[in-house]
Amino acid sequence: MSLSNIQQSASQHLPFGDQRGARFYGTDILSVNQFSKEDLAYIFGVAVEMREMVARVGTFDLLKGKILANLFYEPSTRTSSSFTAAMERLGGSVIPIHEVKYSSVSKGETLPDTIRTLECYADVIVLRHPEKGASAIAAKYSKKPILNAGDGVGEHPTQALLDLLTILEELGNVENLTVTMVGDLKYGRTVHSLSQLLSLYNVKLHYVSPDILRMPPEIIEELNQKGISQTEHSTLEQALPETDVLYVTRVQKERFDNPEDYEKVAGAFIIDPEIMKAAKKKMIVMHPLPRVGEISMDFDDDSRAAYFRQMEYGLFVRMALLALVLGKA
Ligand code: ASP
Repeated sequence: MSLSNIQQSASQHLPFGDQRGARFYGTDILSVNQFSKEDLAYIFGVAVEMREMVARVGTFDLLKGKILANLFYEPSTRTSSSFTAAMERLGGSVIPIHEVKYSSVSKGETLPDTIRTLECYADVIVLRHPEKGASAIAAKYSKKPILNAGDGVGEHPTQALLDLLTILEELGNVENLTVTMVGDLKYGRTVHSLSQLLSLYNVKLHYVSPDILRMPPEIIEELNQKGISQTEHSTLEQALPETDVLYVTRVQKERFDNPEDYEKVAGAFIIDPEIMKAAKKKMIVMHPLPRVGEISMDFDDDSRAAYFRQMEYGLFVRMALLALVLGKA
């Protein structure tokens, strides 16, 4: 599916008020597995519309009077600030809880009780938590929509949506692409979500990682059953020349029990201008960020370096999601 197809299909359904958006009203966004291709076309159509509105007027009152609780038990720069910016650009407001140590969580309050509290004050809750499955637990206790902003080593569905929109915007298409994921595929929740989302399309996946950080077998098995071609590698050489999207990830230091194990694999793969000579001229390099040395800064001016542009798509996707779950798109 190309972006112009997506925009075409979206323009049939916009302006705001179209019935298809109703399908998302009040919905939790917990996993990429909840989306069909049609859902993605619709969400991206709204995201493209959001981008146009931001370019035209900056801020508008679609969610005026609505309140978002931004609840982060783990560090975040892009996800938390883009959700805040998204809500404020739509005219809504935000309760920011970024330092749970200053909230009642530090007094031992449970996640269900914190969620029960915030749903009294907010219309929607964005949650980042160190435990896999935490968002699903939160959703059980909340009548307000929960948006999973990363649940430990589980998933990061809103990141995967913005990643897919980046691919579509940058390369115009997702069908028949070769996507190479490199780095920490074991603990990296972004690659868990993205690989599953990409399995809706006809793509070829390469996984490049140190042995101890390989893609979880259950994800490989799930994608095998969907007929997706997947190959694991310990070096980049084989995969790089045919790669259309090189998705680089940080080794997730905070997930290691033993710091020595981290030291052994940190810096295993570094993308720099020299290595990238073996890659296609028309391809992109993505990274969910933050980077901690996996992509050399010398590469930043290369037109294939898409990771800073990728961040911006996050704003439009999150504006679209907020509007959709609150029944306003
Ligand atoms: N920001 C991304 C995440 O929260 C990637 C990372 O932290 O390495 O998963």
